[in-house]
Amino acid sequence: CGIVGVTGNDNAVSILLEGLEKLEYRGYDSAGIYVNDLNGNDYLVKRKGRISELEAAVGPEVHGSVGIGHTRWATHGVVSVDNAHPQYSEDHRFYLVHNGVIENYKELKAKYLSNTTFTSQTDTEVVVQLVDRFVQTEGMTTKEAFLKTLSLLEGSSYAFLLIDSTDPETLYVAKNKSPLLIGVGDGCNVVCSDALAMLNVTHDFLELHDGEVVTIKPDSVDIEDRDGHKVQRDTFHVDMDA
Ligand code: GLU
Repeated sequence: CGIVGVTGNDNAVSILLEGLEKLEYRGYDSAGIYVNDLNGNDYLVKRKGRISELEAAVGPEVHGSVGIGHTRWATHGVVSVDNAHPQYSEDHRFYLVHNGVIENYKELKAKYLSNTTFTSQTDTEVVVQLVDRFVQTEGMTTKEAFLKTLSLLEGSSYAFLLIDSTDPETLYVAKNKSPLLIGVGDGCNVVCSDALAMLNVTHDFLELHDGEVVTIKPDSVDIEDRDGHKVQRDTFHVDMDA
């Protein structure tokens, strides 16, 4: 339902939690964050219910400069901590938040992931497990595996924000029929499903088009179209108070 992300800011935890609060008005049944400190420590915290309950569960040890967060409105799988996002791969390498619905997730699971251990009932988990599968068994880079996975998601609607914990500074983003924006900050970049969520960090945003894949680092945003060509795009300014 709602997506937030940040890379390159030591206040990642509060940026994500404040961003999720701003998205509360859209409705949700559970929420979660994944944060990485780039020193080999990472944290996954998920809760059913209000953002305030998630905040209460985020202890002082949870810190980092990169992370992703989500408010879920369940479509596939009951409301539970395991089904809340971020979803992750079997080996805990990849973490993913997703808005939307993967129409053919059952077929993909049967075709590619019959030996994979799943922890949730969500359509989303199939996507993050597929990325991991293609990296592990086909020697693909994370971006190649993400692209291949996207090419398999027929007719689905999605906004995705993916992180590879072995290269945690980089965020991978793609969308189809679901809103998602990149926010350009001072030494950091953010991702959000609604600019409202990130006005505490920046007022300058880049819109994304369906089919584009974006690679985001603290000091760069690379947009490619579906043919792999680089896209140049200007930011727009959101003139609104946080
Ligand atoms: N289909 C996903 C799920 O049920 C995402 C739902 C959403 O957009 O919040 O977990």
